[in-house]
Amino acid sequence: MAMEALTYDRAYAYRQEIPPKEYETWQPRKVMQLLIDIDPNADKNSSIAFGLEEEAGKPAKKMAMLGSEEVLNLATLKKHYDALGSYLHMPTLKQMFDGPSPDFAQLKERCEKIVAYLEKVLASRVFNVTLGQFATLECVRCSANIRKRVPFASELLEAKCFNCGAEYRVRNESDQQSLWEPIVEEIGCPGESCAGKIKLWRDEIKRGTWWTCNSCGKAYEICLSIAEKEATPPSE
Ligand SMILES: [Zn+2]
Ligand SMILES: [Zn+2]
Repeated sequence: MAMEALTYDRAYAYRQEIPPKEYETWQPRKVMQLLIDIDPNADKNSSIAFGLEEEAGKPAKKMAMLGSEEVLNLATLKKHYDALGSYLHMPTLKQMFDGPSPDFAQLKERCEKIVAYLEKVLASRVFNVTLGQFATLECVRCSANIRKRVPFASELLEAKCFNCGAEYRVRNESDQQSLWEPIVEEIGCPGESCAGKIKLWRDEIKRGTWWTCNSCGKAYEICLSIAEKEATPPSE
């Protein structure tokens, strides 16, 4: 439970970045993997120090240390958490007949190692530090705020509005600027001799979505249909 509590507490620090459907994830190993997918430094130890720069942009010569954080990292969770799971239940009849009986001396030794590690984690002077650079946008579809962690390199990322599901591509352009591009499909108007085009979000491409064409004024709807299969060359 201590390993779970520490991991959930850490996840809480990232709550604005975790898709709500992941809130049900409970295995600490999976929760920590989720955090690492959001921020590769999520399970790394860190120290925080501050100081006054004598010259702007040059690190200060004198730094005051605020403290260090020891994190219950993924490797430790992998090593110990699952191993404890089998002790939560009595061995089944099959296990009793087949397997060796549980080695309680080994279990005790493992628990002592875990306790020593957790004590180091809990003694950290700073904890659940998440530093990063974020790009924000008011969703163009529903006006909710979207916040996405963006690395310093100009990497193209995908972001999703947790409120309405609209998807975007995001790129960090400079210190203060990021470029957001809605991920939409451009679909030509099916009307005869109409050059109209409509843009649909990915989640709108489903049966029942309809629109009125700006060019020909007719309404169209996405339906299921059966069409004659075009001849395909026989596969080898
Ligand atoms: Zn939205
Ligand atoms: Zn049209």
